[in-house]
Amino acid sequence: MNMLLTPYVTERGLGTLAGDPARWRALEGSLAAFIDELKARPVAEDDEDAAARGYTARLAGAGLLMWTVPAAHGGATEGLSSTAICLIRQWLARESGALDTAFVMQGLGSYPVALAGGEELKRTLLPRVASGAAICAFALTEPEAGSDVKNISTTATAAPGGVTLEGVKCFISNAGVADGYTVFAREGEGPKPRFSAFWVPADSPGLSVQRTKVIAPHPIGRVKLSGVFVPDEHRVGEPGAGLKLALGNLDVFRVSVGAAALGLADRAIAETVARLKSRVQFGKPLAEQQGLQFALADVATEHLAAQLLVYRAAAARDEGRASSDMAAMAKMAATESAQRAIDRAVQCFGGLGVTVGEVPERLYREIRALRIYEGATEVQKLVIARALLQD
Ligand SMILES: Cc1cc2nc3c(=O)[nH]c(=O)nc-3n(C[C@H](O)[C@H](O)[C@H](O)COP(=O)(O)OP(=O)(O)OC[C@H]3O[C@@H](n4cnc5c(N)ncnc54)[C@H](O)[C@@H]3O)c2cc1C
Repeated sequence: MNMLLTPYVTERGLGTLAGDPARWRALEGSLAAFIDELKARPVAEDDEDAAARGYTARLAGAGLLMWTVPAAHGGATEGLSSTAICLIRQWLARESGALDTAFVMQGLGSYPVALAGGEELKRTLLPRVASGAAICAFALTEPEAGSDVKNISTTATAAPGGVTLEGVKCFISNAGVADGYTVFAREGEGPKPRFSAFWVPADSPGLSVQRTKVIAPHPIGRVKLSGVFVPDEHRVGEPGAGLKLALGNLDVFRVSVGAAALGLADRAIAETVARLKSRVQFGKPLAEQQGLQFALADVATEHLAAQLLVYRAAAARDEGRASSDMAAMAKMAATESAQRAIDRAVQCFGGLGVTVGEVPERLYREIRALRIYEGATEVQKLVIARALLQD
């Protein structure tokens, strides 16, 4: 791959990353070996559920899922490392969006338990997350509560020995594949809503799943909770701590959406370079057309700027200096610039760019959702503006 397109960590600005550069080089070495092995023995993506399970097993076999769980429970680092998660997502997303999703859902779905679950729940669940034996999901969004998360209406009502959950969650990644869901619900009466979190095994009576089809391979669907009983031991955090936990999750994972977008853009730019060099029109390679060179230069510059923002935000979080506006800028810049890089790739490929089965066509479908989930671009702008305008 063109050196300019390798991850920021390897060739440029090692100082941007938290911690020891040698450690990141070692992680990149194992990622490169993993990708080589995956290319030699690919996982078929025509069945989304089988692909999710297959990818989870392969990621576990390579030890990569250890990065989604704290060391005390079979993971790689004491807390989660944002830098490692970003690096891994960037590498995985170059190959496949479904592979990236299989990786990140283990962290997104289990991190609230790592942060605030009871000791017994952590002891029984988290090592199984790291080994791929338990597949996880994160259930926050509802039909009437997307960007406006405080509008969730799923209720947790006290019952002997626990609570019962009633409500509908939608756009839940891994719905139907997951072994368990971290579910956020409204708890208690009163004028001020109180949100709480619960770990809900997928086989809980009253839990049902209806799948949704989105434009790129992604196991996703609606989760209906009809009087689902959750014992006290599966409560995650104190009553009322749910929103704080959801935000704690975002601290780590929002910036990593930007890293996945970097991976998709890496691939788009590499494909564009190769195509421009090989495609001859008007008697010479397209790469010799200055108009296309200028477009490529713009894309590469935006891409490196986005990498700086992503790894700066990840390093800040790993060094205890996390700020929501840094993560928001990183996510917005990386997903928006990746969309432009991919659109440029499609354009440079001409008719081939929109041909089903070609890489630019796949990337074009895969990037789109990243500008929407974990806070759409407009929501990131609200976060950034709030930080600027606060007294
Ligand atoms: C592929 C995919 C995977 C997902 N996985 C999960 C998951 O695993 N778990 C989970 O809980 N959720 C998940 N989601 C849901 C995702 O987080 C929501 O779709 C997202 O938060 C946006 O909510 P919404 O779709 O209801 O859009 P809406 O909130 O209805 O927003 C629609 C549009 O209006 C804009 N908008 C909203 N409010 C404002 C405002 N105040 N000012 C300006 N513009 C505004 C938004 O930016 C957006 O462009 C996933 C979504 C997708 C597409």
